[in-house]
Amino acid sequence: DKTLLRMEDVSIVFSSPDEADIEAVRQVDFTLTRGKTLALVGESGCGKSVTARTILRLLDKNARIPSGRILFSPGDGETTDIATLNPDSTAMRSIRGNKISMIFQEPMSSLSPVHTIGAQIDEMILLHENLDKKGARARTIELLEQVGIPGARQRADAYPFQLSGGLRQRAMIAMALACKPDLLIADEPTTALDVTTQAQILDLLRSLRDEFGMAMLFITHDLGVVAEIADEVAVMYLGDVVEQGDVFDVFKSPQHPYTRALMSSIPRMTRRADRQRLNPIQGTVPSPKNRPSGCAFTTRCPHAFEPCAAVRPEPTGTSENHWARCHLLTDPQAPRVDGLIQPK
Ligand code: SF4
Ligand code: MG
Repeated sequence: DKTLLRMEDVSIVFSSPDEADIEAVRQVDFTLTRGKTLALVGESGCGKSVTARTILRLLDKNARIPSGRILFSPGDGETTDIATLNPDSTAMRSIRGNKISMIFQEPMSSLSPVHTIGAQIDEMILLHENLDKKGARARTIELLEQVGIPGARQRADAYPFQLSGGLRQRAMIAMALACKPDLLIADEPTTALDVTTQAQILDLLRSLRDEFGMAMLFITHDLGVVAEIADEVAVMYLGDVVEQGDVFDVFKSPQHPYTRALMSSIPRMTRRADRQRLNPIQGTVPSPKNRPSGCAFTTRCPHAFEPCAAVRPEPTGTSENHWARCHLLTDPQAPRVDGLIQPK
C-alpha cells in the first residue's frame, strides 16, 4: 500500500478570548500517496496553508482540531494519528524533523543568513545520519548536485545571500531533503520566481519526488502550476474543499462554479504581471467570521439558487475519482449550466 497520510474529515478552529470561534478549515478529507502530488489550490486565506501547518502541528496556540484524524503511516505497519499528538512531544518533533519536510516561498525562512549553506546542510545530515563531518560534507555535496546546483563543492561554502533566488530555492530544497522525508510539503515554493526558474524548480521537484519515493503536498494559488505538477487537486474556498479529484478529470470537466471561474481565467494568464493582478471572480471572499451558513461560495456564485444560502452542499461524485460540493449537481430544480453533470 502506497498510502502515506490520510486526512479524515479534519476541521481546524481558531479561538480568541473576545470573539466567536472561527472555523478556518472544514472537514478536509484527502489521501497522500508515495510518488504522487496533491495540489491544494485557492486564494490566499482559504485555509490551504493552515491545512499544511496542521499536518506538522505548527499552528498557533489558539488553534485546535475539534474533529477528524490525520493518519500517518510512514512504514513498518505503524500508523500515528498526528491530530492526537502534543505539538511539542518527542513523537511530533521526530515526525517534523525526520519524516515530513516543508519548503516555502521565501528560502530565507528556513536558511540562516549567517552560516554557509554547506554548514547548514551538514548539520541537518549529522542529526539524521551516523556520519562524521567529512562524510556529512560528502552527502551535502551530493544533495546540492541532486538539486542541480552547479559547482556544488564550491557553492557549499557560499552564504545564502551570495546565491541567486533560484539557487537559494534549490539550496532550501536540498536542506529539506537532508532528512530523507517521506512527505514534502511545498507552500508556494515557486511564486516569487521568474517563469523560467519556476518551470525548472517544478521539474526538479517532480523528479526528486520520484527519486526519493516521497509524497508531495503542493500549495499554490496558480492553476497553471497545478497542471504542471499535480496528480490530484483539491480546490479550497473559505476553508472548504469545494472540488477534488484527478487533475486530468478536474481540468477536463470542472464541476464547481468556483473552479470553473478560476479555470476560465487561465488562457489569459500569459504574462506574470497579469497573473498577479487578475481576479477573475466578482466580489471578494467573505471573512471566515461571516461565513455563509450554506454554500461557502453563495455570495459570489453567478448560479446561486434557492437552497444555496441555507444548506451546505454535500460532496457529490461526478466520476470515479472526482467530486464537488454544489447543489447544481444534485437538485433537480437547479438552473441548467453548460458542462455540468446534473440530474435530469
Ligand atoms: Fe453556487 Fe449554489 Fe453551487 Fe454554491 S451550491 S457553488 S452557491 S450553485
Ligand atoms: Mg499561504
